[in-house]
Amino acid sequence: MRPFVAGTERDLASAVAEWALSLRERIPAAEKAGEIPRDVIRELGRLGVLGMTVPEPLGGLGASTVAFALVLEELAAAWPSLAVAVAVNTGIVDGTLVRHGTPEQLRRWLPRLIDGSGLGAFALSEPSSGSDAASLRATAIRDGDGWRLNGRKQFITNARYAPLAIVFARIGETDPARAHAGITAFAVPLDAPGVVIGTAERKLGLLASDTSALVLDGVRVDRDAVVGEVGKGFALALAALDGGRVGIAAQSVGIARAAIAIARDYAKHRTQFGRPIVDFEGVRFPLARSEGEIAAARLLFLRAAWLKDHGRPFTREAAMAKLYASEMAQRATHAAVQTLGGYGYMREYAVERYARDGRATTIYEGTSEIQRLVIARSLLLGLQAG
Ligand SMILES: Cc1cc2nc3c(=O)[nH]c(=O)nc-3n(C[C@H](O)[C@H](O)[C@H](O)COP(=O)(O)OP(=O)(O)OC[C@H]3O[C@@H](n4cnc5c(N)ncnc54)[C@H](O)[C@@H]3O)c2cc1C
Repeated sequence: MRPFVAGTERDLASAVAEWALSLRERIPAAEKAGEIPRDVIRELGRLGVLGMTVPEPLGGLGASTVAFALVLEELAAAWPSLAVAVAVNTGIVDGTLVRHGTPEQLRRWLPRLIDGSGLGAFALSEPSSGSDAASLRATAIRDGDGWRLNGRKQFITNARYAPLAIVFARIGETDPARAHAGITAFAVPLDAPGVVIGTAERKLGLLASDTSALVLDGVRVDRDAVVGEVGKGFALALAALDGGRVGIAAQSVGIARAAIAIARDYAKHRTQFGRPIVDFEGVRFPLARSEGEIAAARLLFLRAAWLKDHGRPFTREAAMAKLYASEMAQRATHAAVQTLGGYGYMREYAVERYARDGRATTIYEGTSEIQRLVIARSLLLGLQAG
């Protein structure tokens, strides 16, 4: 039984799960090469995953946030690097354009984010601003009837694959009293003169997912590159991150589930002291704890996704889901590695990869500390949970 989930939503997730199984043999080589093969991205486009939540009249599948979150759980269970690439493209970039894009922006960009020819990027973080995103330093100044952008964005997922990035830059002076004042979102073509993609970051995990700097050196964009309203970009970024957090929670559940499945199978077959190790309470209890926590985390992300689908406030619920699921994924992957003992530490079994990949979930799209701030703020304002 899956509260919040309809049969069609489950079917979509099952279809993607089946397809993702076919990637299994290719994952180690792709992680080693540090890239998602282009044919896999094209296939995601063909399957409709890259435009899953885009309304049908705009060329997408028109699926719900619930369905998309379940798909992200399945992708993460198979290959977390792929899940984060899709989460950013579909959940954040498509979603932002659908909500705020002009008809011209939708016509120009959505087909290229949906068809598998590339993956969109969302460029908010900078070298000196992460959690405190409103302190960003990138600037946009008037240039004729357009804008000229300067700045450096840091840790940008998909930068190397992206036809466009939604870039946040400030118009006018920084106002210490209103830190987010002037922040504006721009749809920036990444083949524009002055755009430089930095060297890919060398990371702990998610090795096939691209994380790169994005340098904007006097990049000229037209007036109609502004996404949403001039000066209202920060609210737009926060709304995008609310939705994104549902996806990271789902990703965390997929990672935990896959790691625990490997550990369970291993524990049934590994014999020590003349018995399968799963007979020892010390081995089976961490698995049992994880099983319960995975189910709880899934309910949290489904509730947040359902609220979003029904047009209800979900900021607090998305933060709760992201906080709990990502922290749960740390416990679950730790338990999985421990269950396999020395083999858990070796590349031969994928638990070490899930442990490394899962580590990012408590950091990106707002650290655990920032989720606690969001939840505490709503608590202090006396808002009711959905
Ligand atoms: C793999 C990966 C992919 C990413 N992809 C993208 C992307 O596509 N686009 C993008 O814009 N960004 C991206 N990021 C950046 C990510 O969103 C930031 O790393 C994150 O928001 C944290 O910012 P920071 O790294 O600057 O850490 P900081 O903000 O410097 O935080 C450092 C520590 O201080 C804590 N801290 C900060 N402020 C507070 C506070 N008020 N109270 C308590 N604790 C606090 C933090 O929780 C953290 O533990 C990505 C990051 C990673 C790791």
